[in-house]
Amino acid sequence: MSLYGARNIGGHIRSAFGKTVSVLTSFLMLEERRCASCREPFVPRERGAAEQLFCPACLPSFQRRQAGYCPHCGEPYALSDAPVVPCGECLQKLPPWNEFLFYGIYEGELRELIMRGKFSGSLDALHSLGLLLAEICAEHYSAGLVPDVVVPLPLHPARLRERGLDQCLEMARPVAKALGIPVRNDILRRKAASVPQSTLDREKRKKLHQPFAASPEAAGLRILLLDDVCTTGATLSRAAECLLQAGAASVDVVVAARASRHSSPPSGRSGRALP
Ligand SMILES: [Zn+2]
Ligand SMILES: [Zn+2]
Repeated sequence: MSLYGARNIGGHIRSAFGKTVSVLTSFLMLEERRCASCREPFVPRERGAAEQLFCPACLPSFQRRQAGYCPHCGEPYALSDAPVVPCGECLQKLPPWNEFLFYGIYEGELRELIMRGKFSGSLDALHSLGLLLAEICAEHYSAGLVPDVVVPLPLHPARLRERGLDQCLEMARPVAKALGIPVRNDILRRKAASVPQSTLDREKRKKLHQPFAASPEAAGLRILLLDDVCTTGATLSRAAECLLQAGAASVDVVVAARASRHSSPPSGRSGRALP
């Protein structure tokens, strides 16, 4: 079937894309859809999440990082085919989580897609990112114990008011669906800064500042913590520590993209610092 011949058949599917795509299984072959990156119509030929979301021209920009990173924190190495070995920081001290899963490096088209979800509030972009994460989580947990819940890293209430949608919560939905577990965005929250920070020196401030609070309901749960981008891992560490202190049985982390803590942080469109 030609691309244009398929357009009519694909039209209604495209319009309902966000609602009706059930993770990994309900993709139908040979139906035209819009590329999640460039928005051009294309006909997916393969069943992988990226192959279904991105046109052949964009697909190479959305390859999953398969090598050349630290298995504990995802820190990317200069060579993408370098072995998967612990980084210097993780050799000194392991992060508080067990597993660290990420899709790709925070650069190029993947970064653009994340920015579109985060700052332009594109639900399509967030859903696409969620589908990529759903695939890597489904693959990772196919051979092991599936977590009990997905916990999206909470957005600060002021940011939520400003943006109108919670990007991590939206990305978490396809992941939860793929794993058959609930999204719990009531287990972890951001708290308002309460320590008079100006009276403390920098090191003490860093130590004392726990921006999260966890509900007692975290107790006993195996938690999959989800965020969009990880740079230093500091925010995710605080969140994981908070959940573990509340009695969580374990915390795994999944993020859409890993930025190197050693390269200069890419500036967001709004000029905001990354987590
Ligand atoms: Zn494209
Ligand atoms: Zn590491």
